[in-house]
Amino acid sequence: MSPTSSSEPGPSAAHRAARRAELARNLAGVRARIDAACAAAGRDAGEVTLIAVTKTWPATDVMLLGELGVTDFGENRDQEAAPKAAACAGAGLPIRWHFVGQLQTNKAASVARYADVVHSVDRLRLVRALGAAARAAGRELTCLVQVSLDGDPARGGVLPGAAPQIAEALAAEPGLLPGGVMAVAPLGMPAAKAFAPLRACLAAVRAVSPGASIISAGMSGDLEAAIEAGATHVRIGTALLGARRPLVR
Ligand SMILES: *Cc1c(COP(=O)(O)O)cnc(C)c1O
Repeated sequence: MSPTSSSEPGPSAAHRAARRAELARNLAGVRARIDAACAAAGRDAGEVTLIAVTKTWPATDVMLLGELGVTDFGENRDQEAAPKAAACAGAGLPIRWHFVGQLQTNKAASVARYADVVHSVDRLRLVRALGAAARAAGRELTCLVQVSLDGDPARGGVLPGAAPQIAEALAAEPGLLPGGVMAVAPLGMPAAKAFAPLRACLAAVRAVSPGASIISAGMSGDLEAAIEAGATHVRIGTALLGARRPLVR
């Protein structure tokens, strides 16, 4: 028999309570940074949606953050995101999934089953694959055009000038809604300078698709610069969940 009384919290309950407290503290810190950045930019904090990027972290963290009021979650690999979304589906939490990573066309069918927003649309072949996948799943996917702010396609994205062409293709594809633009700050460039073209990118997309309203930009290290540049959605991993361990693929 265990000497521990069954009325005491076991190690897993204690661990869960400690993790919940840590996530609550981190969340308060991130919300304070968003509020301060909005105040500095003369914007309403209600204009900025926080997306918790939970890659490498377990579904239990998603559910804890959901209990703390986070509704939007981001993942960058389908192999990890699909089972995590399934694990959270029965929890009764209002969760929206954002796919933020580079996406292979052969993963479009899987992503379309759980994602609400795909942030990384940067080629016509992917538009067609996502459209077919959304229709097959009977779902509507909001899609953002990923723009490359330094012209280096290594981390995905089209040149800003090509964004309207992708938006037109999205608008023509039943099942897909052009939602706006997404960017990752290039390495070795000040974030404020990198993000400066994003408002004009969204305006160019809105010229072909007036319903588009999203600028997805800003991560743990540069959310203030992104909010200054007009971000409506910030994608925060490390500052909320902690440092990720290097992932063995
Ligand atoms: C991992 C990731 C993030 C979050 O980055 P942090 O620096 O941990 O906040 C945001 N966007 C994308 C596309 C990511 O892959």
